[in-house]
Amino acid sequence: MILENLKHKTKETREQSIYACLEEIKSSWKGNVGGLIQDWIEIAGEQLAFNCTPLNIQNKVLTIGASHPQWRQALQYNRLELIESLRSYGYQIKEIRIRQHYPIDLVSLESEKEIWEKHPSRTDKTGIIDCPFCKVPSPKGEVRLWGKCSFCRRKELRINLKI
Ligand SMILES: [Zn+2]
Repeated sequence: MILENLKHKTKETREQSIYACLEEIKSSWKGNVGGLIQDWIEIAGEQLAFNCTPLNIQNKVLTIGASHPQWRQALQYNRLELIESLRSYGYQIKEIRIRQHYPIDLVSLESEKEIWEKHPSRTDKTGIIDCPFCKVPSPKGEVRLWGKCSFCRRKELRINLKI
C-alpha cells in the first residue's frame, strides 16, 4: 500500500515537472512578445495579423515574420503606421524588422479561419432558405450540404444513433 502511494507520488511529480517544462518551452517560444501576440490582431488589423507574426523585441526593435513576399512588402509599406499603432498600445517600438518566417501557429489560425469561412451555418455568405423538413428559414449552406437544417439533421443523427 505504501509502495503504491509512493508510485503515485512519483508519477505526480513527474507530471508536474513535465508541465513545468512545457510551460518553459511555451514561454521561450513566445519569448518577450507573449503579450504582444495577445494584442496583435487589434494592433496590426486582421489581414496583417493573420499573415505576419511578431517574433521578438530587442532594443525597441520588433522583428516580424511573414511567409509570403507580398506580406513582407505590405509590412514594409505599413511600417510607420504599425509602429504608431504599437505605441498607442504601450509598446515602445522604434523600428520594425521584417523576416521570412513559416510559423506553425499561423497555419492553424489560417485554417481555422478557412473552416469558418466555409462553414455551412454561415448565413452571411450563403443566404437563407426554408428547410424542406421543418419549413423553418435556415442557412442555405446547411440545406445544400445536408438536405435539411442543422436541427433536423441533429434529430436525424439522434434517431440513427438509437437504432
Ligand atoms: Zn429543419
